[in-house]
Amino acid sequence: MNLDSRLLRQITHARFWLALTVFCGLGNGVLIILWARRLSRVVAEVFLQQAGLDEVHGYLVALIVIVLARAALLLVGEGSAGAAAARIKRTLRAALMERLFSLGAAYARDERSGELATVVSEGVESLDAYFSQYLPQLVMAAALPLMMLLTVFPLDWLTGLVLLLTAPLIPLFMILIGKAGEVLTRRQFTALRRMGAYFLDTLQGLTTLKLLNQSQARGKEIAAVGERYRQTTMKVLRLTFLSAFALELIATIGTAIVAVEIGLRLLYGRIMFEQAFFVLLIAPEFYLPLRMLGLRFHAGMSAAAAVGRIFEILNAAGSSPIRNEEGEKYLKKPEVRSILEEQHLEIRFDRVTFAYPQREQAALDNLSFAIAPGTLTALVGPSGAGKSTIFQILLRFVVPQSGQVWVNGVALSSIPAELWRQKIAWVPQRPHLFNTSLAANIALGNPEASREAIVRAARMAFVDEFAEVFPQGLDTMIGEGGARLSGGQAQRVALARAFLRNTPLLLMDEPTNYLDPQLETLLEQASSLVCEGRTVLIIAHRLSTVHRADKILVLQRGRLVQSGTYTELSASSGLYRDLFEAYGQGV
Ligand code: ADP
Repeated sequence: MNLDSRLLRQITHARFWLALTVFCGLGNGVLIILWARRLSRVVAEVFLQQAGLDEVHGYLVALIVIVLARAALLLVGEGSAGAAAARIKRTLRAALMERLFSLGAAYARDERSGELATVVSEGVESLDAYFSQYLPQLVMAAALPLMMLLTVFPLDWLTGLVLLLTAPLIPLFMILIGKAGEVLTRRQFTALRRMGAYFLDTLQGLTTLKLLNQSQARGKEIAAVGERYRQTTMKVLRLTFLSAFALELIATIGTAIVAVEIGLRLLYGRIMFEQAFFVLLIAPEFYLPLRMLGLRFHAGMSAAAAVGRIFEILNAAGSSPIRNEEGEKYLKKPEVRSILEEQHLEIRFDRVTFAYPQREQAALDNLSFAIAPGTLTALVGPSGAGKSTIFQILLRFVVPQSGQVWVNGVALSSIPAELWRQKIAWVPQRPHLFNTSLAANIALGNPEASREAIVRAARMAFVDEFAEVFPQGLDTMIGEGGARLSGGQAQRVALARAFLRNTPLLLMDEPTNYLDPQLETLLEQASSLVCEGRTVLIIAHRLSTVHRADKILVLQRGRLVQSGTYTELSASSGLYRDLFEAYGQGV
């Protein structure tokens, strides 16, 4: 989808508010003209014809009404501009988050999370000024001067000509200065994104930096990055002020020319006072929308810099997000529906090849294997063999370049990713825990689960064994990233999530680190319980796991080199034996 049409679609969501803003702006323009007419008439009658209060009373009331109406229009205009911007920001932010979720782990792994966070927060925020100020101003800068020209020309063509000739100078200078500014603003936004990424990276690695005694050096680097950002910001500001100055100058000179040329003619009696005064009142108002546009041009440019990056993410290649209404369309297909209702899943990889972007070596190379329903399959192989990539494909975070994955004879690619993911429980090696209570972290597996179900899941995964020690039990807050839990405990929380989820397919990545024997036994018991009755795929590092596996697949450089049961593989020579013998206890 191209950039502009996406942007337009977002705008249409808020078109009512934008239209209201523009309407208020135009109404304001009409009122300015009426106001100048009434005022020049009152002044002319009072000063030249010595009219009394009684005669101009009606005009004065009209003037007050006009001023009040202008205030009301301004208020409504500002409010609706704010509403339009808020609406657009909300839609864009939601679209960005939806996209990032659907692009999934594989994309987020390549990108720096601090940078993504800056785009979603600061980047989208910069659109506020664009939609609430720049865009309505653009329409007004085009319409209001035109409206005023049309009223001035019939009254006084000479002033009309002066206005007509000087007005285009403002947009012209704006464009000339803007061209230089565009590069600078883009650079400024890139610097901001980099700084965000760098800062988060540093915060996350603070312990390592402290240990290696590098925090001072890193601090200096952060200061340098901050300084660079300050410098680009100052450059942008300098240019903004310069452009504001240039635009003010043109507007002032324009008004001055009108004043002089009117004054001279008035002196020689070539123009009526009332006309002259009206034109003089209108002249500054004529330049005002153009000057305002110049001032808001900077906001427009910062937004343009952010929009580029936002749409880069929105348009990034990956499986497209499935919305609910589309999901329902898929649900009408009987074969897809039968899979989503099925409790026994048979999975078959058929000559699947996948290479990560910008990688020559394929992570999976023409890989074929089958997993029978309700069995436990262990994936083993050296690091980089492609085990995690198999999970990425099954989780639908990446799509194979060739070959097909079949689920009960239905192509995986024909099942909507979001519906398919409801069939999977995933226990990663380092599960992510959120800064909420233990119970809430478990409930993520199934947000609708009752408290009893959560407690049961916690018991099955032996979470209650360590939760009991905490003063608030399962309601204890566990800190960001599970800061108060050990690796083994975090893994058990993830297992509890899997219990609660109760899906037909379970993907599990065993921890590689050494656990004490008691914990090892607990984890083993919990994981064999959770595996019962499901189709399970485990990236195995434990001897006990390969022992109880129905089938072991040995991978190397994206290919299947051996497969069989524990007894078969231990008896024959090959990679499995090498791995097994190399590590003694486990693979
Ligand atoms: P394993 O889980 O067996 O250690 P992986 O599936 O993680 O292996 O990796 C298989 C290959 O793909 C490796 O060569 C690895 O470097 C590469 N790889 C994995 N993830 C990415 C990624 N996000 N971007 C680029 N290459 C990747």
